[in-house]
Amino acid sequence: MKKIMYSSTNGHPELLDFKGALLRGQAPDKGLYVPQEIPMISEDELARFSRMDYPEIALRVMRPYLGDLIPEEDLVAILLDAYDFPVPIEKVYDEKYVMRLDKGPTFSFKDFAARLMGRLMQYFLKQEGRSMVILTATSGDTGSAVAQAFYDLDNIEVVVLFPEKEVTGRQRKQMTTLAKNVHVMAVDGKFDDCQSMVKQAFVDPDFSDLNLSSANSINVGRLIPQSIYYFYAWSRIAAPDHKIVFSVPSGNFGNVMAGLIAMRMGLPVHRFVIATNENDEFSKFMETGDYRPIRPSVKCISNAMNVGHPSNLARVFWLYGGEMDETGRVIRAPDIEMMRREIFSVSVTDAETREAISEAYNRFDILLEPHGAVGWAGLTRYLKLVEDWSPCVSLETADPAKFPEEVVRAVGLEPPTPEAMARLDYLEEKFDLVAGDYRAFKGQLSKLFL
Ligand SMILES: *Cc1c(COP(=O)(O)O)cnc(C)c1O
Repeated sequence: MKKIMYSSTNGHPELLDFKGALLRGQAPDKGLYVPQEIPMISEDELARFSRMDYPEIALRVMRPYLGDLIPEEDLVAILLDAYDFPVPIEKVYDEKYVMRLDKGPTFSFKDFAARLMGRLMQYFLKQEGRSMVILTATSGDTGSAVAQAFYDLDNIEVVVLFPEKEVTGRQRKQMTTLAKNVHVMAVDGKFDDCQSMVKQAFVDPDFSDLNLSSANSINVGRLIPQSIYYFYAWSRIAAPDHKIVFSVPSGNFGNVMAGLIAMRMGLPVHRFVIATNENDEFSKFMETGDYRPIRPSVKCISNAMNVGHPSNLARVFWLYGGEMDETGRVIRAPDIEMMRREIFSVSVTDAETREAISEAYNRFDILLEPHGAVGWAGLTRYLKLVEDWSPCVSLETADPAKFPEEVVRAVGLEPPTPEAMARLDYLEEKFDLVAGDYRAFKGQLSKLFL
């Protein structure tokens, strides 16, 4: 099988295969890894997807990116293990749907990417007889998704740092009730303190033998797995020759970038609606052709999308022939006309977000939380401006029970707590308290691993 190589969006000449790019994370020139060639899935094969389940579709989507790095039977086992939860597609009205990506272990769509990345890392590390320590600082949700995704994997230890007083009880319990290879530290400080301690550990020569990694969100091993659910959605609801519209609530644009890749792989997509909250740097760019990051980012109720400069925009620019560095500087303009044909960009205010939660529930009996509501509001705006289009799928990226205050405020109803979330309240917690300075953290880390 032909091997796809990965290069940096900043133009570094070194090419790596999937395994190399996955274990490296970020390119040495601070660019993001992108596949040198996007594999096509034939129409015949696409037509067969409607008879396949999620892991079977995942195999067809992932296989070309991996080439012969993993024998098929091993990859099948990995996919069955990673994707063992449902992916409901709910009809809202006519051929308008909401796909719920919130049924994984941390009730957020980040489970789709993190679980497969963790398992692929474990596979390659074992193959090489290596091990790795993942360090991650979190203000809440990222840490729990990473901790859950890597929980109980071999050859990988996870250390999560969170600001003791700044995460909710449930967020904390999603991390502290795991144990085994997951080590959790509550830091007497702020998120920024956690982040800077992690950064210092990465450059500390005393830890150079530990093989520290951040497993962060720009890893190409987290990007590609997110293409799978776009194929899945299409296969469940569209006739084989029918193009679909997706609306994607977006922050760092990893989710929508994976959708754009799916389209290049042959998935029949009419348009992507990129729906952001009040951080409207991208919709301004689509209007004016002038890109200006928003610093600092605007605080909105869809707080996982409070991003003033999406890191994956460098990949989006690359896809359309442009180049953007990690700071948001445009080196070469992309083909903006082509972008406008394929993408409809919209910025949604908090007021519109709340109204979308209320409308979806009162008119259609569909319960959304703020992120999914931004997607739904974006789709509604799109359908008003253009001639109607069907089918359409709006992505719901978190369980409403994660944002009870906003849901109660919009619809006067307490969102039902999923059983697995409620169970957390009865599990034993285990974590260490750490002072907010590097010496204390280094002491803890040394005790664990040196
Ligand atoms: C991370 C996140 C997003 C944003 O996804 P991107 O890939 O960064 O655009 C949206 N919704 C929720 C609930 C998230 O956690």
